[in-house]
Order: sequence, then C-alpha cells, then structure tokens
Amino acid sequence: MVTRLSLLKELSALIADDVLVVSSIGNNSGFWGQLKDREANLFHVTMGMCTSTALGLALALPNRKVLALDADGNLTLNLGVLGTVANEAPKNLTIVLMDNRNYLGSNKKEPGMPTATAGKMNLEEVAKGCGIAGACTVEEVAGFRAEVHKALSTDGPHFIRARIEALDNDRPPRNKRVPDPRENKYQFAGYIQKTEGVEILGSGLGGG
Ligand SMILES: [Mg+2]
Repeated sequence: MVTRLSLLKELSALIADDVLVVSSIGNNSGFWGQLKDREANLFHVTMGMCTSTALGLALALPNRKVLALDADGNLTLNLGVLGTVANEAPKNLTIVLMDNRNYLGSNKKEPGMPTATAGKMNLEEVAKGCGIAGACTVEEVAGFRAEVHKALSTDGPHFIRARIEALDNDRPPRNKRVPDPRENKYQFAGYIQKTEGVEILGSGLGGG
C-alpha cells in the first residue's frame, strides 16, 4: 500500500496549471499546499462537501477540468453526491479519493476512529452502483499515475479510489503558507474571475 504523500507527489507532476483542484480538509489540503502552490487550489473543503463543491464547479465551468481530492470520512458523510455526479455526468470532473479507512488518524501515531471503509463498504463499488461505470481502485503509484493520466485526458466523470496507508508517516517539508479558508475562497474566486471572464465577487460594499 502507498502513502498519501507519494500519490500527491505523482499528482503534482500530472496536473496542468489550469485544472481546478478542490481538496478536503486535513492532510489532503495541507500536503497539496506544500507540493503545488498555485492559484487554482481550493483548500480545506469541509466534511461532506469536497466532491459536491467540485461537482458544482464542473457544472458551472464545463470547459474547465476539475479534480476533487476527497477522503473516505469526508465523502461518506455525503454519499448521495455520487448519485448526483452520475446523473449530471460532467465530462470534466475527476474524483480522487484518498481512502485511509479512518478519521483524523493522519496527524497521530495510531489510526483514528475507523470509517465504514475499514469494514465492508467499498467506495469503488458504491460509485459504480451510483452509475459511475469507470470507477476504479489503485493501490500503488504506477496504477495511480495511469488512472489519473487517463482521467485527465478522457471524458468523465471519473472516480479513482486510492487505498493508502492508514497513517501519514511521511510528510512534505512545511515551507509554504497554506491560506486559511476565508482568504483562499476569495483568492480562488478571483482566479476564476480572471481566467474565465465571469463575475463572481461583484463590486463589494461600494455598490454599483
Ligand atoms: Mg480518512
């Protein structure tokens, strides 16, 4: 089995600058912010909302590739989103699920409380059952690289479940400041305004 960091390093080499990456709260965001400092990142998306937020972006911006960097605890809180992903079927959406089978274990020496995926739940099969036919599971770097490359170069929606180590024992050096959620939200919206030619933030309190 592989570590989250080894897969995120691989992802950082595969992702084009303009792909919107929506990452879940926790080490998905903390590590990604150290590995890939860029304007197209929305960090710290809270429990249940990572894939949902990415889905909204993919539907609103159909010509833009969007990648959700989700996690087992986060996704299982709002599992119904997979049915909506399948029914809406955005071609530009890829979901990468970091499945470490526990909550909050990534900052500890022992795994946290197990999620349902530590038991009988298989999120690849759930995604398939929801209608995401190409859902797959990877457990090593080469397979992850191949599936992400395929997802970013073919029509989606794509769902890649990565079975990773329960604990994040390898970590990137912390030499970049990952913005807090409020600051990052405005940065990210400003980036979309600039690159898509749409108005999101309006003119602020000055009116008009
Ligand atoms: Mg987890």
